[in-house]
Amino acid sequence: MTTLNLERSIRLRLRPAMLRSSAGGYIEQLLPLAKENIPMIVVMRSSATEQDLAAVMARLREHGLTGRVTYGEERNIIGVIGATIPPTLREEIELFPGVQEAVRITRPYKLAAREFHPQDTIVHVGDLAIGGGSCVVIAGPCAVESEAQIMATAIAVREAGAHMLRGGAFKPRSSPYTFRGLGEAGLRLLAQARAETGLPIVTEVMTPTDVELVARYADVLQIGARNMQNFQLLEEVGRSGKPVLLKRGMSATVEEWLLSAEYVIAQGNPDVILCERGIRTFETATRNTMDLNAVALAKRRSHLPVIADPSHGTGKWYLVPPLTLASIAAGADGVIIEVHPDPDRATSDGGQSLTCENFAALMPQMTALARALGRRSVQ
Ligand code: PEP
Ligand code: MN
Repeated sequence: MTTLNLERSIRLRLRPAMLRSSAGGYIEQLLPLAKENIPMIVVMRSSATEQDLAAVMARLREHGLTGRVTYGEERNIIGVIGATIPPTLREEIELFPGVQEAVRITRPYKLAAREFHPQDTIVHVGDLAIGGGSCVVIAGPCAVESEAQIMATAIAVREAGAHMLRGGAFKPRSSPYTFRGLGEAGLRLLAQARAETGLPIVTEVMTPTDVELVARYADVLQIGARNMQNFQLLEEVGRSGKPVLLKRGMSATVEEWLLSAEYVIAQGNPDVILCERGIRTFETATRNTMDLNAVALAKRRSHLPVIADPSHGTGKWYLVPPLTLASIAAGADGVIIEVHPDPDRATSDGGQSLTCENFAALMPQMTALARALGRRSVQ
């Protein structure tokens, strides 16, 4: 990180603390630390004793870290130096007497963080460019069910203006007694639909051993919400050479989501598309709660493209159009929408699937909104 970026980052991160602090003014003390890659800063209270300071320094040493003290007239500040900051260190240190607050300056993820890579990452899928304010539309059924179903859907969404086709051949299902996908036969049907329509394909891979097989057919490998923290799978798709659509786990924090992206990038694959698909909350009226905060926040914290899945985010077909538009307005670089020619007969997620007609009616609204927001055209 450049000195300038770190300085900005310290200023941003500390602003709320300074507003709370009656003494304030210690930012000037911090700026010399901006010259170094200091991952955390501990601000001591003005009432802190030498023993308080020594206790913090001792705990840092126990973690294999070093503390460098900047003595000030009002208060002392410790710059924490070390390669790996334990995730719980901030909370731990804030419990120490004499500590006003501990501030994490660098994020626990590096490759996915915008602070180390300020410009937007653009993921290329054939001629499509996803990210940097794009508005890519991925549409298709939850599951590939038959040749007739996938071909009809692919042709309809292509006609309506979609850019990519989705469809699961390997389906993660809560119950083992429900339809779990056609497997490789489904992948072959997707390839057939691509040949017919020219739409690139995104499809889910569920296990590390299937990555090679799925990557032979898919243009983008989808990691489902339930697998967001399947770390071996993340590493395997990281080695696949294919772009990855990484869904947020239904109970995952934004930080955990970005750490999962880090796993993929760390294997040498920078082409990660983040996908917000709703989280579990106390609300049971909808299948999930579409977390649009996370869309805007992920765009701010990370340089990776972020798309939204209002189908799984709401679970109700009639909520898909409004939440699609809201997602684009919140800054999503695109959407992934479930579409089925006959939702009542769908083997999975029929209740949240748009008919081909409803999808065709939504498409011009997305385009008009994207244009009004000054979004880049995807092709
Ligand atoms: C899907 O895309 O059909 C799917 C199973 O999504 P998620 O992993 O978000 O539940
Ligand atoms: Mn689905």
